[in-house]
Amino acid sequence: MQWKKTLGEMTPYKPGKSIKEVINQYQLEKVVKLASNENPYGPAPSAKKLLENGTFEIEMYPDGNASSLRKKVAQKLDVSESSLLFGGGSDEIIVMISRALLDSGKNTIIATPTFPQYAHNAKIDGAEIREVALVDGHHNLDGFLKAIDKDTAVIWLCSPNNPTGNLIPGEDLKSFLAKVPDTILVVMDEAYYEYITDPSHTNTIDLLKEYANLIVLRTFSKAYGLAAFRIGYAVGNPEVISNLNKVRSPFNVTSAGQALAEAAMDDDDFIEKCSLLNREQMQRFKKYANVNKLHIYDSEANFVLIEVPGNGDIASEKLLKQGIIVRSGEALGTPGYIRVTVGSEDQNTGFFSAFDSLLADVQLLK
Ligand SMILES: *Cc1c(COP(=O)(O)O)cnc(C)c1O
Repeated sequence: MQWKKTLGEMTPYKPGKSIKEVINQYQLEKVVKLASNENPYGPAPSAKKLLENGTFEIEMYPDGNASSLRKKVAQKLDVSESSLLFGGGSDEIIVMISRALLDSGKNTIIATPTFPQYAHNAKIDGAEIREVALVDGHHNLDGFLKAIDKDTAVIWLCSPNNPTGNLIPGEDLKSFLAKVPDTILVVMDEAYYEYITDPSHTNTIDLLKEYANLIVLRTFSKAYGLAAFRIGYAVGNPEVISNLNKVRSPFNVTSAGQALAEAAMDDDDFIEKCSLLNREQMQRFKKYANVNKLHIYDSEANFVLIEVPGNGDIASEKLLKQGIIVRSGEALGTPGYIRVTVGSEDQNTGFFSAFDSLLADVQLLK
């Protein structure tokens, strides 16, 4: 077979273990997954109710235009309907951007470490990837500017950044955008937007009026609790959106996903409550890290990147045996750390007690 050369250097995405796998592998009764930043409180009651009582025309293709959801999101964000593009998760929007703009001869600039799908897709599409190291978990935007040349087609920003959780301050973003040539698409991935509380954050949707080369990605997978239904979207200049729409597959977002996303949007209070609980629980992680003298990044999302004694792989394996699934920093470009989703109160208590025994092991070794 005549595969693209680049595939030889690639491996398929390796997700964290599922709850079922861990239960079977370690003969455990209860397993908590704090590995993929899903909402520990589930979707909004309004979405749950629709799933229980709603009927879907299962034999029919979905509305490829996602018209009803489009109208609702446009109203909520106060943007035109033609400013929106929906995808099977924002993951699929990343694929569309890469496919529409990147190929050999082009380059793309990303932070490192950041969400791996930007580089993954750029690689498949043959573009050169320019990585700019984070500084204390933050994007080094000056470094990004220096990496730009005439062949730069896409810049990926992730705020809060996965896996560190750090936010790009609004003022930094604005001065960055003012300096980036308008021939380069700047992608602002805001998968954790709903969790942000830092006042230095700026409303990126407002910036779209000023910068036609900016596109903002949001998702229903995280705070909205609909990860299983794969639905995310992009907000951008209608011309940009219209070009991306050319590479979208015709029925890319399921009927159930569209309907559930709409229903979930009817419960702003739920999202606010989840964000508040996340803040409260996040404080426990910060306190735990401080008490145990472990470094923790300043996260504005629903996960934390926390230092472990020794190696992240070994630490996450030890936690796994106690029924707690986390992501090893070794796999995320941050060795010596683990990334932990901020769970519910009980889940986090379970995590801390598992981590306590990990720390006790280290004491014994000393
Ligand atoms: C989870 C995540 C996504 C993907 O979310 P989906 O909408 O489920 O595809 C995109 N970007 C970042 C930074 C994420 O953490």
